[in-house]
Amino acid sequence: MAEKRTQRTVLTGNPVSAGAAVAEAFVYKPQKMEIGRIYYDAGKKKEKLDAFHRTVELAKEELTQLAKQFEEENGEQSGIFLAHREMLEDEELISETELAIRDELLEPDSAIEKVFSEFAGLLGQVEDELIAARAADLHDVKKRLQRIYQGRTEKKLSAPGKDVIIIAYDLLPSDTASLDRRHVKGIITEKGGCNSHSAILARSFRIPAVSGVSGAVDKIFDGMYLALDAGKGEVILDPTDEDTKKCLAMCGEERKKRSEEAQYRQRLGIMGDGTKIELGINIGSCTFDALGESYDFVGLFRTEFLYMEKNTLPTEEEQFAAYRKVLLQAEGKPVTLRTLDIGGDKTLPYMELPKEENPFLGIRALRLCFSRPDIFITQLRAALRASVYGELRLMFPMTGGMEDIYRAKAYVKETMKKLDEEQVPYDKNIRTGVMIETPAMSIIADMAAEVVDFASIGSNDLTQYVSAADRMNPEVSSYYQNCSPAMLRLLASVFGAFAKAGKPISVCGEMAGDSGLTALLIGLGARKLSMSASCLSGVKAALSGITIEEAEELAARCSTMRTQDEILQYLYTPKP
Ligand code: PEP
Ligand code: MG
Repeated sequence: MAEKRTQRTVLTGNPVSAGAAVAEAFVYKPQKMEIGRIYYDAGKKKEKLDAFHRTVELAKEELTQLAKQFEEENGEQSGIFLAHREMLEDEELISETELAIRDELLEPDSAIEKVFSEFAGLLGQVEDELIAARAADLHDVKKRLQRIYQGRTEKKLSAPGKDVIIIAYDLLPSDTASLDRRHVKGIITEKGGCNSHSAILARSFRIPAVSGVSGAVDKIFDGMYLALDAGKGEVILDPTDEDTKKCLAMCGEERKKRSEEAQYRQRLGIMGDGTKIELGINIGSCTFDALGESYDFVGLFRTEFLYMEKNTLPTEEEQFAAYRKVLLQAEGKPVTLRTLDIGGDKTLPYMELPKEENPFLGIRALRLCFSRPDIFITQLRAALRASVYGELRLMFPMTGGMEDIYRAKAYVKETMKKLDEEQVPYDKNIRTGVMIETPAMSIIADMAAEVVDFASIGSNDLTQYVSAADRMNPEVSSYYQNCSPAMLRLLASVFGAFAKAGKPISVCGEMAGDSGLTALLIGLGARKLSMSASCLSGVKAALSGITIEEAEELAARCSTMRTQDEILQYLYTPKP
C-alpha cells in the first residue's frame, strides 16, 4: 500500500505523447489475467465456503443494482447485468465451485478461476454464436466474483467522474480506447513503449503520456496531486506552486500552438514549390473524427478496434454496417481497410490466443487470419459487401513473403466467387495492397510491387523488426530507432521500388505524423503520408515550408550519417 507523501518527488520516464497536465492521480490496477492454483489449510474449509457464499450474494446485489441503474439509460446493458445475475443462480456452476473449494482445498478465487474457465471453455467451442457469447459473460462474472472476494473495488477508466491522470502498470489498447477523453488529462505507465498501440491512441487523443516510469503504481496513490510534463517525460508528485504554475503555462502554450496550427486545417498537403503530397488519416473506430481537417484519404483503418470493443467476435452484419458507415463518412475518399491485426500487444479477451514466448514474432495479424479462416472470410465478406458504398481498399498487415500475398489474395478471390454465386454485389475492381512492415517484405518490395495495387509502410513495426527492439519495452527504447541509417536506406529502397513499378505507396506508421520528419520522408521518396488526424496541421505546416529539392538535399545529407543521433540532431537544428 502506498504511503501518503507530502514531499515533492520527481519520477521520470519516456515521453510518449507530449503535453502537460495538472490533476489528481487515478491509480488503475486491473485484475491479473489468470489466478493460478492456490491452496488453503484443510482446517479452514467452513471459513472458505462461507466466504465464497458471501461473495456470490454480494455479486448478486451488485448486479441487481447495476441492472437498475442502467434500466432507464440503456436497456440492453441492463439486460446483460440481469443475465450475469442469472448465471450466479446456476446450480451446477455453484456446486462445482463449492466442490473445488471443499474437496480440492482451492482458495475460493482460485476455485472460481478453475470452474468458470472450464465452463467458459466448453461454451466457447459451441458453433452457435449466441451460446459462444456466453463464454465471455462467464469470464466477466468470474472477474466480478474474484474482485469481490479479494475486497477490491471496481474502477473504470471510462468513467473516472473528474479530471484525473491515470497511473497504471500498463494499459491495453482496449483500455486506452475506452478512456473518458473529457476527464483523462494524462497517462503514466510503468510499461509500454513509445509505439505501443496504447501510445498511438494517447497521441491521437492528444492525451499527454509518459511510459517506463518504474515504481509509479506503488509510489503514487489515488487522489495524489500530480504535475505532468510529458514532453520531458517528468511526473512531479506533490508539486510546488511553482511546478503547478509552470505546467499550467505549458498547457496554455499547447492550446496556443494548436490554435496557430488551426489555420492549416482546411488546407491540403502542398509543399513550398507547389508539389502536392497526399495526406491521409489513420482511424480506429467506425465513427471517426477528422477534427475538422481536410484530408485526401483514409490511409489506415485499424479494424481490430471493432473486435476489441465487444465481448464476442463481430458478426458479418455488424462489420458490414461498420465498414459502410466509415465509407459513407469518408464521402467518396478512398478508405484503406486493414484486415485484422490481432496478436502482439493486441489481444481479444474472448479469444484464446496461443501462449507464445515472443508474440510479436508469433501468430499475429495475417498469420492469425490464415489459422482462423472463418474469422478472415467473415471480415472479407463484410468488407467486400460494403465496398459498393465508396472507394474501399483492402490492405494486409504483417506480410512476410510473397506466399503471404498470394495466399491473402486467393482468399479474396475465393470470397468474391462465393459472393458472385450468391449474387451479392461488391466492387469487382477493388484494390488490394500490403503493409510493408517486416524486413523481408521491404527487401523484396520490388517483387511485391509487381503483384499488389498499392502498399503502405508500417514504420512502427518495421522499426521494431529492423532494430530488433520490442516496441512495447521501454528498456530498449533507445534501440528502437526509426531514423537509423539502416531504416533510411531501407525506406529509400522501398520508395524507389514502388516508384519504379509506378504503384502508389504511403507511410502510415507514427513517423508519418511527426512534423520533424516530414522533410526527411519526402526527401527519401514519400509522396503519401497517413497519420492520426491530430498530426495533420503540423505536417501541413512543415510541408508548406520546404520544396522537393530541399527535402531531397536534406535526405541525401542524412543518408551519409553514421548514427541516428547525428541524423536527429541535424533534422532538429533550425536551418538558416
Ligand atoms: C505500423 O506498424 O507502423 C502500423 C501502422 O501498424 P500498427 O501500429 O497498427 O502495428
Ligand atoms: Mg504494424
